[in-house]
Amino acid sequence: MARSSTLVILNGTLIDGSGNPPVPNEAIVVEGNRIRSVGRLPEDVRLEDQEHVEVIDASEQWILPGLIDGHCHLSFGFPQMTGVPSSQGTTSAEFSTLRAARNAQTVLRTGVTSLSVPGGTWFIDVAVRDAIAAGLIEGPRIFCAGRFIVTYGSITDNEPSWVGTPEHTNGKLANNVDDMVTEVRRQCKHGVNYIKMADSTWGDLQTIAPHELRAVTEEAHRRHARITIHARGSGSTRAAAEAGVDWILHADLATDDDLEAVAQAGMPIIPTMTFLARGVEVGLEYGRSQRAVDAMKRHLDGAVHVLERARALGITLMCGTDSGNSPLMPYGELHANEMEILVRYGGYTPLEAISAGTRDTAFAVGLEHEVGVLEAGKLADLILVTADPLADIRVLQGGRHLAAVIKDGRIVDFNGQTVAPEFLALQPATA
Ligand SMILES: [Zn+2]
Repeated sequence: MARSSTLVILNGTLIDGSGNPPVPNEAIVVEGNRIRSVGRLPEDVRLEDQEHVEVIDASEQWILPGLIDGHCHLSFGFPQMTGVPSSQGTTSAEFSTLRAARNAQTVLRTGVTSLSVPGGTWFIDVAVRDAIAAGLIEGPRIFCAGRFIVTYGSITDNEPSWVGTPEHTNGKLANNVDDMVTEVRRQCKHGVNYIKMADSTWGDLQTIAPHELRAVTEEAHRRHARITIHARGSGSTRAAAEAGVDWILHADLATDDDLEAVAQAGMPIIPTMTFLARGVEVGLEYGRSQRAVDAMKRHLDGAVHVLERARALGITLMCGTDSGNSPLMPYGELHANEMEILVRYGGYTPLEAISAGTRDTAFAVGLEHEVGVLEAGKLADLILVTADPLADIRVLQGGRHLAAVIKDGRIVDFNGQTVAPEFLALQPATA
């Protein structure tokens, strides 16, 4: 059957992502991959024209913008599988690419229509992004970095110096400005959307000098790429603010002064508290030490303070989860959890949290004028859910209340399944 050119969503309750209160929906009309209208049904749309007009009745449902995860990794080598070699990532680019493609599909099927991927192995995420955009495979829109640019002692520099950082690891060593700028150029040549720098794992040490960060930021921007940094510490957060990166990941040990510098610079933060909360909750089960779990608890407490201060200073907080960073962060399960954290710890109303996760996080996927709000002219990425997320923000989690996912104007066909159970059953093989 030929694809209808017009899709009409009738009835239901519209939460448009802009922060407007929910309203009864009369009709959302989608033409091709864009929203033509929201509100009254235009007179020239004939619902009885079944050959050209597809109608979805959303009665008793809630309509929201497609979810966005501003921090998710597809190609770190998860889920781990019995019999598949895996060290940092895996030793095969080919297998990793196929697995990342499958991960992207799993994510889309839980209502996430856009993903920001701050780093992976090889240029797998670029390839998966392009294959999705070309219609070769199914998945969310992807906006991605390449391997993190790191120095000795940064996160991902896990091997002895005589091993370095081979292609299957998610970091790329560059210990001076020349090497860093060369890597920015190499990654831009291979099509990344943004550059990911990474300071130390837990922020106890500052591994990237301010002048290095400035040089990388300048080169990225010269090449029309954005830049972010994994910065948990005070010094690295401050340096990121002063270098003018596009957004900061974590910032959970930032002082009030550092946050003022961030506010001054006008850049958003992706606190990524889902990972910390999950680590505190199930870290021990996944083989993390008590010491590591305690550290995550301290960082979670720090992040709660940052959340309060950032909000008071008017810093935009975007939602990201770090799904796919380790076996304890499975695909498809946690992408909407950051919104719950904003409600639980940040004093957000569910409506405000939804706007943070849609309208605000659109910036992390480079689509700040295109997705995240349901209005005429925007790309048609939206979800329908069968329970009220304003009554309980958790109904958006894990795709458990999804009635439909529409991405780029098309209804995603997932054969009645939200997450392929046979795939989820494979993780976690090891911790
Ligand atoms: Zn991450």
